[in-house]
Amino acid sequence: MKKFKGKGVYGGVAIGKLRVINRTGVEVRRIRIDDIQAEKKRLENARLEAAKQLEEIYSKALVSVGEANARIFEIHLMMLEDEDYNESIENIIETQWTNAEYAVAVTSDNFAQMFSSMDDSYMQARASDVKDISNRIIECLNPDEKSEESLTEKVIICADDLAPSETVSLDKDNVLAFVTANGSSNSHTAILARNMNIPAIIGLGEEFLAEISDGMTAVVDGMAGELIIEPDTDTMTKMQLRQSEEADKRELLQRLRGKENVTLDGTRIKLYANIGSADNVGAVLLNDAEGIGLFRSEFIYLENDDFPTEEQQFSVYKKVLESMAGKKVIIRTLDIGADKQAPYFNLRREENPALGLRAVRLCLKRPDIFKTQLRALYRASAFGNLGIMFPMITGKPELERILAICSEVEKELQSEGIQISRKIEKGIMIETPAAAVISDMLAPMVDFFSVGTNDLIQYTLACDRQNADVEDYCDSHHEAVLRLIKFAADNAHSSGKWIGICGELAADTQLTERFLQMGIDELSVSPHFVLPLREKIRSIRLK
Ligand code: PEP
Ligand code: MG
Repeated sequence: MKKFKGKGVYGGVAIGKLRVINRTGVEVRRIRIDDIQAEKKRLENARLEAAKQLEEIYSKALVSVGEANARIFEIHLMMLEDEDYNESIENIIETQWTNAEYAVAVTSDNFAQMFSSMDDSYMQARASDVKDISNRIIECLNPDEKSEESLTEKVIICADDLAPSETVSLDKDNVLAFVTANGSSNSHTAILARNMNIPAIIGLGEEFLAEISDGMTAVVDGMAGELIIEPDTDTMTKMQLRQSEEADKRELLQRLRGKENVTLDGTRIKLYANIGSADNVGAVLLNDAEGIGLFRSEFIYLENDDFPTEEQQFSVYKKVLESMAGKKVIIRTLDIGADKQAPYFNLRREENPALGLRAVRLCLKRPDIFKTQLRALYRASAFGNLGIMFPMITGKPELERILAICSEVEKELQSEGIQISRKIEKGIMIETPAAAVISDMLAPMVDFFSVGTNDLIQYTLACDRQNADVEDYCDSHHEAVLRLIKFAADNAHSSGKWIGICGELAADTQLTERFLQMGIDELSVSPHFVLPLREKIRSIRLK
């Protein structure tokens, strides 16, 4: 038995035989040619064939992983036509009198290296895309040597790395799991694995490839990021038990996947999920949430030792939007302060941090930080269905200032020629009593409300959510809290706006009926609560 540790991209246990994909592909040799025009013609034909294949893969991906994820193959098609890339290949053929395969391979290495050395993790991940299209052109130059991976039994796919096109081309029904020596969780392959609901581990290190061969038995623990080869009897029994427990749990709830969130008398409500990182999107999809109702973006800041750059944030938001494939994704702007502190903000110690400089208050004091985040959000909006939500609102003036900064950022990006979505919904959290009480004044200014019950309870009932000594006073069913929610719901609806709840109370099934009676339009809960809550909704009769 041998164990290898990597990064779990998508959870679940898979047990089965290994299938090693040899991606060395066609061996490229440098051959001197004597007819440059003929070689360029060969190249052109191969490029046309590659484009045809990519169009076919795109159509296949549209069905298996959705439009947003399939877009990577459109990007590949664009790369195939990229002027710099093609000029480099032709230039090598012309100046070095070499065969097209060699020119493509050299260009591929150069471009991949260039992408890998960039600071931006999104651009780094593009190195594997350029290698992917280059390998395809080389294969098209040598159609007889092309090796298609066809799977006739269920296997665990092992490779040094997998290109997105290889990932979607594999017969999903016969893939138990993906494990790779390299790869980044930012790569489209990782995104695709999550979307295909297949356990996956990346970054196991090159040494694992030397230890494995086709047909070996292995266990993939996608949650722990662990690959166990030739497990002993004890390990096998333990993992089989876990696998069957997971299957039982899944089966129980799977009955509800794809079912509507509708009461017995036909009242509908949207069920979204809350996330704190792009890595949680797999759980959102697995649990069949219709969207993301709260992405707590401050975790990106908390995980960093310094302010995350616009590029860093853009790549995270883009990844989430792409993975959600057109479903609603509401990203909440930075809510730092109070219990969420990052040392590099150098915030002054406060007597009452929960009542202090947190969330939008901090963003308005540091518009540079706020604008960086907004630019990243607006840029990412082109890749999905984005909603932006502002936390800790208490009054109109701060909301006016926030919306003015949003317009500034929007204009700035437009003048830079950057594409942004035209239909970004903007909303606010109703998590202070003040916001609930003046919700009639706030509703016309935004597209939606989302009630943050964790803070609404703390501020309404004057009890610190961090202090265990006053926990008994934090009565989440307190009439004051419920009336404020109902009041905000009525005001939202009077203005023709929608209202959701994204605090923990949204998952409290004792209140589901009451929320439905209030006309709450959406509930956003931790991913694993989605299906149990759906079960509850479907058991309720309101009238
Ligand atoms: C809330 O206050 O209910 C909420 C959703 O936000 P957080 O818990 O992050 O403060
Ligand atoms: Mg809150």
